[in-house]
Amino acid sequence: MEQKNIKVHVANLKKSFGKLEVLKDISMDIEEGEVVVLLGPSGSGKSTFLRCLNQLEVATDGTIIVDGFNVTDKHVDINKVRENIGMVFQHFNLFPHMSVIENIMLAPVELKKMTKEEAREKSMQLLTRVGMEAKADAYPPQLSGGQKQRVAIARALAMNPDIMLFDEPTSALDPEMVGEVLEVMKELARGGMTMVVVTHEIGFAREVANRIVFMDGGYIVEQGTPEEVLKNPKEARTIDFLNKVL
Ligand code: ADP
Ligand code: MG
Repeated sequence: MEQKNIKVHVANLKKSFGKLEVLKDISMDIEEGEVVVLLGPSGSGKSTFLRCLNQLEVATDGTIIVDGFNVTDKHVDINKVRENIGMVFQHFNLFPHMSVIENIMLAPVELKKMTKEEAREKSMQLLTRVGMEAKADAYPPQLSGGQKQRVAIARALAMNPDIMLFDEPTSALDPEMVGEVLEVMKELARGGMTMVVVTHEIGFAREVANRIVFMDGGYIVEQGTPEEVLKNPKEARTIDFLNKVL
């Protein structure tokens, strides 16, 4: 039998902030090359889940293994884990005083993964990939929101991650800029990147996701293919949510 390569293994993950239990019992395996779209109402713990995967939040209980690294082991070298995980946020978090290409080169050079020359060449390739090569020497404040987000994606790719996490990457964009960012994400998915994407872009989910996971109240309520979850949702909470966003 073909052995599937599990990139992310989450078992019985719990996360509380003080008395507030946000993630109550989440288990999920993600295979290499899989694109998982996380849906759920605001406050359901989607961002917290993503942030637990690279220990931006420390899990309260349960196990998370990413690329063979036990993230929930307190002795883990978390920087090693993070090198393999690229993250793109709603707000781009680019350094405004650094040019586009300097933003992208920063991590590989600082972490001594590449020489400056190598990083510059790699960054130009990434900028070409996201259609931003002409803006290499521009500064973030000169860019549109869609352009900034494409640069942020290139920056996240600069460390050669093999997993990419996206937390509502298009939610802060003007509507006319959403498409260009989703297009870059689709291209990444086609290239075989393992991706976990929190988004309300149902069209993207339908077209690109291998699996849709609907979260509510700290649990996974329902999951399946886009066909299953979007066309034939079984749970009342999923139906209610889809009625609001579709
Ligand atoms: P979602 O991304 O699905 O909207 P979040 O993961 O951002 O949900 O938040 C889930 C819940 O956890 C919310 O009630 C939020 O207020 C709370 N929460 C998130 N981060 C923190 C934090 N650092 N401290 C306290 N509460 C938090
Ligand atoms: Mg969120």
